[in-house]
Amino acid sequence: KIEENTKGEVDKVRVSIRSRPLSDIEENAGYASVIEVDEVNGQIFISGKHLKSRSSNRSFTFDTVFGPTSKQLDIYNDTARPIVNSVLEGYNGTIFAYGQTGTGKTYTMEGDRNDSELQGIIPNSFAHIFGHIAKSEGENQFLVRVSYLEIYNEQVRDLLVKDPGDKIPKIHERPDIGVYVQDLLSCVVKSVDDMDKIMTTGNRNRAFAKTNMNLRSSRSHAIFTITVERSDLGADNELHVRMGKLHLVDLAGSERVKKAGVTGDQFKEATNINLSLTTLGNVISALVDGKSTHIPYRNSNLTRLLQDSLGGNSKTVMLANIGPASFNIEESVNTLRYANRAK
Ligand code: ADP
Ligand code: MG
Repeated sequence: KIEENTKGEVDKVRVSIRSRPLSDIEENAGYASVIEVDEVNGQIFISGKHLKSRSSNRSFTFDTVFGPTSKQLDIYNDTARPIVNSVLEGYNGTIFAYGQTGTGKTYTMEGDRNDSELQGIIPNSFAHIFGHIAKSEGENQFLVRVSYLEIYNEQVRDLLVKDPGDKIPKIHERPDIGVYVQDLLSCVVKSVDDMDKIMTTGNRNRAFAKTNMNLRSSRSHAIFTITVERSDLGADNELHVRMGKLHLVDLAGSERVKKAGVTGDQFKEATNINLSLTTLGNVISALVDGKSTHIPYRNSNLTRLLQDSLGGNSKTVMLANIGPASFNIEESVNTLRYANRAK
């Protein structure tokens, strides 16, 4: 249920929840689902007897709640399509997948790119964008570019260069263009296939790091950015160029890492993830509140880099993912609280 105003616009910030199904492993191990979803009313219930030191049930309400049988295309149509449409009109937008590791962030953002029904938001956006371009050929000219980076320990890695770890790109700021990553590769793409290949390259470069760092991909934020430039011939016979930018963000796992007894790299990792996810939550809730005079973009590199696509005329969707199994309940409640604060 997308509420549009009279101009056909949707809310600037939306928060949706997705609960994945119990996995076979969880089911075989005898775990029960403790989550119940009412998609019609956007409500989610947690069965109280599983909650530590609480006897009553808990419920939360969101813009949209997707249960375990939700389809990838329904998620796309409800949460991403309106944002991509506005990017095609020259506005900026950001879609975040938030949640504990293993709850379906990558499934939601990427999914299975070889299966049209199981592909996630990113490949669906490729099809949407190039479908739109094919339809409007003749009227407008489009130039589409993509870049792909990750933020790990507050450092940027360009996933489209051959050995991303070799050179750490610097984050700079200029009064005219704002915050940007120096020398970040940006590839012109002319088809869905071009985009898909770039994603494959980036994922491969990302995976390499896993050998050095345990489960690295769940400890970093991946940002896939699509820039669409549209030129129209105006009534004045002049060429008008509009640029829209779409950031598709697969966030680091939100699970609380027990810091007690953890030292060195792991401690630093946990502290940095906590900093960026907390800052993101603060930025979004300040934007939703609308009354805040100070938005703390500068407190983390994630929000600094996305600043021009959060707030203002931009549209933002936060898709918070949870697992339904009883042993995930504390993390699921944390995620729902985080999302609840952001809405
Ligand atoms: P994350 O990126 O949050 O760590 P993943 O996207 O890798 O989590 O999902 C963990 C596992 O659960 C994967 O095997 C994935 O295929 C499966 N999964 C996640 N969401 C769903 C869903 N909605 N339906 C079916 N399987 C899912
Ligand atoms: Mg993942």
